Amino acid sequence: MFGKLHARDTAAAVARLLTMGNEPFMISEGINAIFAQRQVRKLCERCKEPMTKVSRELVTRLGFAEDEAAATKFYRPVGCINCTAGYKGRLPLHEALEWTDQIRDLVLWSGGRFNMQALRDVALKQGTVTIQRHGAELLKRGVTTLTEVAAALA
Ligand SMILES: [Zn+2]
Repeated sequence: MFGKLHARDTAAAVARLLTMGNEPFMISEGINAIFAQRQVRKLCERCKEPMTKVSRELVTRLGFAEDEAAATKFYRPVGCINCTAGYKGRLPLHEALEWTDQIRDLVLWSGGRFNMQALRDVALKQGTVTIQRHGAELLKRGVTTLTEVAAALA
């Protein structure tokens, strides 16, 4: 079966399935993987400009370590004849959560008190590139803005 629902990330998708009245055992047995996708607008390469002042609070919230943030050049949209308000095109943000035994058990034994953060922690430990991490990678490549990634993760 291939299903689709709207959620912020894969952990939120699992939470949504549970609150929709699905039995934990049905979810834990019925899934092979969960994918999340969002989109961000892509900066126009012709007119983008480096930001002179960056909100440290925002950068931290988007999962940047301090040294990582210091090494990243963030850009802002400007706008030119080539684009719309400094943006041209879109880029996907992905997250693919592999349905391992550990995650299966976490859902199966949730007993109606599913812990999204616990699932996110397990996902990170098993090497999942989260949607937030993917957003950070795009920012490090300078192809989108902090505003776009923050909006996609909200
Ligand atoms: Zn432009």
